[in-house]
Amino acid sequence: MRITNKVFNDLGLFMMFFGLIIGIIFPFFMLLFGVPASYVMTFGFFSSCIGAGIVVGAVNLILSRVIVAKRLKILSHKMTFITGHLGSKMTNEEIDMCTKDTCKIIVDSEDEIGESAQAFNDLVENLSKSMKTENSIKLFNEVLTSQLDIDAIAQKGMEQLISYLDAQGGAVLLERGGDLFVESSYAIKDVGQLVNNDVVWKALKSAQRQVLHMHKDIIVDQALVEFFPDETIIEPLVYKGISLGVIILASSHKIPEGLLYGFEMCIRTFTLSLRNAVTYEQLQQLAANDPLTGVYNRRFGMVRLKEEYNRSVRSNLPLGVLMIDIDHFKSVNDTYGHTIGDKILINMTRITKMALREGDILLRYGGEEFMVIMPGASRQDSEFVAERVRRMIEESSAQHGEHQISVTVSIGAVSSPETDVSDESKLIALSDKALYEAKEQGRNRVILY
Ligand code: GH3
Ligand code: MG
Ligand code: MG
Repeated sequence: MRITNKVFNDLGLFMMFFGLIIGIIFPFFMLLFGVPASYVMTFGFFSSCIGAGIVVGAVNLILSRVIVAKRLKILSHKMTFITGHLGSKMTNEEIDMCTKDTCKIIVDSEDEIGESAQAFNDLVENLSKSMKTENSIKLFNEVLTSQLDIDAIAQKGMEQLISYLDAQGGAVLLERGGDLFVESSYAIKDVGQLVNNDVVWKALKSAQRQVLHMHKDIIVDQALVEFFPDETIIEPLVYKGISLGVIILASSHKIPEGLLYGFEMCIRTFTLSLRNAVTYEQLQQLAANDPLTGVYNRRFGMVRLKEEYNRSVRSNLPLGVLMIDIDHFKSVNDTYGHTIGDKILINMTRITKMALREGDILLRYGGEEFMVIMPGASRQDSEFVAERVRRMIEESSAQHGEHQISVTVSIGAVSSPETDVSDESKLIALSDKALYEAKEQGRNRVILY
């Protein structure tokens, strides 16, 4: 029942009305108790009782305002505060600070007011948890979707998940060609042996999460202290039903159920980002590599030659170039067929790679012609490497069916700045000329310009 549009005004009116009634009834009670009518049935006594009733009603109103309304005011202030913050984007630190004292209400009574305060505090707590999850997922998405590098995604994703679950160690293992490889890891002892762990393989093959407790194979190694983690999650990274790998997260405590929803959301983004990065890497390789031999193709190789030439000029370092051509390859094809010819090409690039140093670039210049770009190689170095390539190919022979086949190569070598060239195309022209001369002089030899 409402009289005015304010609850406390209604309450006040009811209290004073009740006081008025009590004031009116009170003199008749006095008669029942034997007080003479000449004392109580007077205007003065009546008006004193009515006045007292109204005053008690008014005092009750003030007390209820002081005691109850004050609490409700606090509640409404806090609600306004929280609502204001919900509108703005809160960081995780702000949410943490908010849950401590600024946003919560002191619960000091065991009644409806206390219950409301407790319910409000619980609401804030849950709200802050879900905002924290949302913020973490948002941050996670931002970091991962801005990357296309597998290493960086694995590392950053793992770090963020370790922090989100408050874990102490982790590792990302990815599957390639049927084997698992450690892509990144943090504070896990002997992480390499996990690629052969049965439970890890079980998670990968079944595409189901595995949880280990104090497992002997997983030890967190934190420089000063080593321990068996209380709980280790091995989560498969599943894309369209196929596991790309697993992430392992080791924690010194049981991971709270409440974090698992956010964790699963992050895993989805993580898997998708990794999948994109793997696809991107494969596309890059397709664009840059020769499909038969796997070495760089001519188009990409020419870009690399230009880069290396410019770098060598800038840094005043030599740059060696070899042009390699298989001798009488046409007759190899004619004798044994193209399929065996292809295998010989593959084998020849494998041997050439073995003869090169790290940092040297091998590319298929065309047909059975290959080029080697050797940053830092002087004229003498170039001759040395060319001779090693020539000799290793000459000495190797491969069994193809019932045929034992060996081939030889002729090589033209050049190095700038000992040979003065104006640009990288001159390096190609000169190495080609040297190769031609090697052919002219009888093949299976190196000619150095
Ligand atoms: P030379 O010693 O003068 O270099 O003689 P050659 O027979 O190697 O030279 P030529 O350039 O006449 O022949 C190159 C041969 O390489 C012709 C072609 O059939 C073969 N060839 C080019 N690319 C491929 C390939 O991808 N696979 C196979 N099997 N053969 C190839
Ligand atoms: Mg040839
Ligand atoms: Mg040729």
